[in-house]
Amino acid sequence: MRAMVLDAAGAPLRAAELPEPEPGPGQVLLRVRACGVCRTDLHIVDGELTQPKLPLVPGHQVVGEVLDGGERFAPGSRVGVPWLGWTCGECRFCLSGRENLCDRARFTGYDLDGGYAELAVVDERFCFPVPEGYADDQAAPLLCAGLIGYRALRLAGDAETIGLYGFGASAHIVCQVAVAQGRRVFAGTRAGDEETQAFARSLGAAWAGDASVGPAEELDAVIVFAPAGELVPASLRQVRKGGAVVCAGIHMSDIPAFPYELLWGERVVRSVANLTREDGEEFLAIAPTIPVRTEVETFGLEDANAALARLRSGALRGAAVLVL
Ligand SMILES: [Zn+2]
Ligand SMILES: [Zn+2]
Repeated sequence: MRAMVLDAAGAPLRAAELPEPEPGPGQVLLRVRACGVCRTDLHIVDGELTQPKLPLVPGHQVVGEVLDGGERFAPGSRVGVPWLGWTCGECRFCLSGRENLCDRARFTGYDLDGGYAELAVVDERFCFPVPEGYADDQAAPLLCAGLIGYRALRLAGDAETIGLYGFGASAHIVCQVAVAQGRRVFAGTRAGDEETQAFARSLGAAWAGDASVGPAEELDAVIVFAPAGELVPASLRQVRKGGAVVCAGIHMSDIPAFPYELLWGERVVRSVANLTREDGEEFLAIAPTIPVRTEVETFGLEDANAALARLRSGALRGAAVLVL
């Protein structure tokens, strides 16, 4: 099969021919139709996440067709594969509804080969049926940008005014969910990024502007999607007493020191880690009812490096997706 392979951090992905993977017990063999490109992939390729399996086939927003294996899905079924690829089922986190924090979790496209390939072998228990009505490329970003974004929104509580800072793949989906829930969305971008600000307004944001400054009014919560630590104290300045700043990315630059006064008043800073299968099922049931529309820019498998470069540059509108 054709695949794009990471041999070492910092090196471009290599186009390779790999042997066809074979499903073991409880696994399904998928023909990959589309695979979303996530900022996490960039953190892996750039070496900011330091423990990937090597060599590695990245990609954890996989839409595929079941070819063989397992018992849960009939051949020909369309399934989605998320970041959470395996959990132990017996640690204290797994046993308390927090499998996203499993001590021994294995992640797709990090510990396990992912979807930057023609074929993939995955644990059937961690696959989701993909909602009908979404083309393969449109569905792919729902599987990480969508469902981890949705988890972040849930952890932001009942905020009526909510900032989404770093308006990329995840925020463009979460914005639609938040607006449908009757919240007012404030989209924070890099200073002067008028194109992204206009995009956010077109999705229902009440305000769009420079994230480091924020809107004139106080916010109930901010979700920080951008991997920029300086946005944490900047966001704390913008939330009301009792408000929350939720960091949704897996990696962030260091957070600069800030006066305790910014945290005082029972303001909360927290991160969001990974997903549970429950998050995925809940979000994939809600997405078509809104309906969430994804804005995608598509690339061929061999153009994965170009897709990553475009994500790195900040020039993408919505999400990048490899289409096979
Ligand atoms: Zn566990
Ligand atoms: Zn992701």
